[in-house]
Amino acid sequence: MRAALAVAARNVGATGDNPSVGCVIVKNGAVVAEGVTDVGGRPHAEETALAGVDARGATAYVTLEPCAKRTSGALSCADHLIKAGVARVVIAARDPHPFADGAGVARMREAGIAVELGLLEDEARAQNADFFARWDKG
Ligand SMILES: [Zn+2]
Repeated sequence: MRAALAVAARNVGATGDNPSVGCVIVKNGAVVAEGVTDVGGRPHAEETALAGVDARGATAYVTLEPCAKRTSGALSCADHLIKAGVARVVIAARDPHPFADGAGVARMREAGIAVELGLLEDEARAQNADFFARWDKG
């Protein structure tokens, strides 16, 4: 997760209204891919990390809960992770935005992915403090 936070740090402040998220894919004990929310807010970190890598059976470390819905109607990051066949997703912080808000976690668990929440949560929240201040109404 430290690696994912370091990846996310690259675009903090450059992703518009979206938070800067980091995603690292680990397979057989090695990092095989990484992604950060692109400048302007899209593509999302998970999309970039999953592009062009065989993530079947891998673990994804994500600094924010993957989205369950997109304004564009495109496939959400939760769906991308399911489609890629990822076995385990470790998340730093729950996403308070209505397009996630627990729904990303629920969708992945329903699909049989082992989901863990809360690893280095304080660091992840501090990284996108403005985003959490805007959406997290407790
Ligand atoms: Zn997303």
